[in-house]
Amino acid sequence: MSRPDGFAFDVRPDGSVALTRRGLPTTTLRDARAAAFLAEVAEGDPQRVMARWSGVGGADAEAGADGEEDPEDQPPDPRPLAVFDLDGTLADVRHRLHHLTSRRKNWDAFFRAAEHDKPLAEGVALVRKHAATDEIAYVTGRPEHLRADTERWLARHGLPPGRLLMRRAGDRRPARVAKPELLRDLTWGRAVSVVVDDDRQVCRAYRDAGFPVRVADWSDAPEPVLTEAQEREGRT
Ligand SMILES: [Mg+2]
Repeated sequence: MSRPDGFAFDVRPDGSVALTRRGLPTTTLRDARAAAFLAEVAEGDPQRVMARWSGVGGADAEAGADGEEDPEDQPPDPRPLAVFDLDGTLADVRHRLHHLTSRRKNWDAFFRAAEHDKPLAEGVALVRKHAATDEIAYVTGRPEHLRADTERWLARHGLPPGRLLMRRAGDRRPARVAKPELLRDLTWGRAVSVVVDDDRQVCRAYRDAGFPVRVADWSDAPEPVLTEAQEREGRT
């Protein structure tokens, strides 16, 4: 059973509530319905609540409709979330940047080589420290097709388990736009202790969205190359 995702809502000055999914409107609630929705979304799993009020998402939006216990209906983890980027924060990408600096950029080779990244000691120490008190999650601009490689890499280097959010297939928006959206979906209704990323434009966008940010300034990757990859070409 897949979990509903991509929903968001906005309370308008007139008190009505506009629900959207992936930026597209699904429904607008007014008066008593708006109040009922706001009470429910504060209590329950926000994505499920928004899916049900939007009338989309099918059976998976109906919490407990099948009468079976659903792990997604458990109360949310009370720990704060600590969120980590991968490339340039936990993973040393320097050995594969040459795929992007030659005249013809080879993105496939750049991503295929990710499994050979060495971990960055400062980042790994920080994520382990947070794992003692926080729930860990990873938000990366790497595309979804690298999920298996990436999960293997995290396990091989002993990084704490945590949800892994990746850029959707075909999403070429700049990282500073795509990543805050992933983070918002991930952190609905949750406290966030820190978000760690090496990309200064992404960090600025996270800060503007109200998240506590720590800039990963330990990677020494040549910034112009990575910035081009992450921002202008929307690839990592
Ligand atoms: Mg990065």
